[in-house]
Amino acid sequence: MDYKIIDAHAHIFPEKIAEKATVNVGAFYDLPMDSCGMSKKLIEGGNTIGVSKYLVCSTATVPHQVNSINRFIADECRKNPQFFGFGTAHPQSADIEGDIKQIKDLGLHGVKLHPDFQEFDADSPEAFRIYEMIEGELPLLIHCGDPRYNWSEPAKIRRIAENFPKLKIQAAHLGGYQRWDEAEELLTGFENLKVDISSSLAFMSPEKAVERIRKFGIENCFFGSDFPMWNHSEEFDRFISLGFDEKENTMILAENFRNFYNI
Ligand SMILES: [Zn+2]
Repeated sequence: MDYKIIDAHAHIFPEKIAEKATVNVGAFYDLPMDSCGMSKKLIEGGNTIGVSKYLVCSTATVPHQVNSINRFIADECRKNPQFFGFGTAHPQSADIEGDIKQIKDLGLHGVKLHPDFQEFDADSPEAFRIYEMIEGELPLLIHCGDPRYNWSEPAKIRRIAENFPKLKIQAAHLGGYQRWDEAEELLTGFENLKVDISSSLAFMSPEKAVERIRKFGIENCFFGSDFPMWNHSEEFDRFISLGFDEKENTMILAENFRNFYNI
């Protein structure tokens, strides 16, 4: 069966900083990075399994990077029509309104936040200002979970979903990287919250992965590589070996994503 595949979570970095950024992210998570985070490499990797669309993003770790990163993502989307770009924002920016306006003006499709890299609490008043501004207009992809910090713990992600019912939320990594029990307890059952299953499957047994995905609901999960964290074909094999039926695979690999983002 040849599936249509959307990669719901991929990072790209400007060529100049790609190598360094990739090494830094790998060091943060103490994981070997599969390849350098550049668009060309992303597409090469995706081609090995037939990815037709990629949600691409990049995180500004400091506020002054926000505008240039957003321009970079928009440029890459123009050059690569299979990219579905999300902009970055930073709660400490002096002009969040301006940053959000830039994201809209550039035609980007949502906002990606990474509370652990950006060092803010996902449910802080500063972060709530961003959600308020984008609710009903731009979806949010948010990194969730870290065993070492609480910036993006599932309980905080839950508060976003509760307080902003019209905000579309893609909670990354099955709702809580290495915090999967909390995630499945706290984040299931929200109409406005979906999860991507990137950077999750390698860390749990296939049985546990199936159980967790079913708990969230097949219709609420998106396949993603978290490129450059993982190799597309290995991550795809991990997913396929879970043994969902054809219909379920079709949903998780592309259909759910398309429905959620109306594409
Ligand atoms: Zn990410």
